[in-house]
Amino acid sequence: MSQDQKPTSRRTVLIGAAALGGLPLLAAAGVAHAAGTLPKANAKYQDHPNAGKHCAVCNYFLPGAKPTAVGQCKVVAGPISPNGWCTMFAPKA
Ligand code: SF4
Repeated sequence: MSQDQKPTSRRTVLIGAAALGGLPLLAAAGVAHAAGTLPKANAKYQDHPNAGKHCAVCNYFLPGAKPTAVGQCKVVAGPISPNGWCTMFAPKA
């Protein structure tokens, strides 16, 4: 080791490992919050429920600031009403 190199501390290694280990989680979180790109017409989106099924109880819904606010969808593009519905509906588990 030359005099310009500093020894790597255990703390530095642990912080680096934690950062690398956390990357997949961050990437997954980024994907999970990405709005969809499918046009509403392709998904036959409507701004009202279908037989009790609606976006607020769909696994793909990304809620707005309030439960009644317009949100987004992980599949369908554009603003999504919590009372909307489309053919991609998937109930929350
Ligand atoms: S019902 Fe359709 S538009 Fe609504 S959140 Fe689910 S996938 Fe998105």
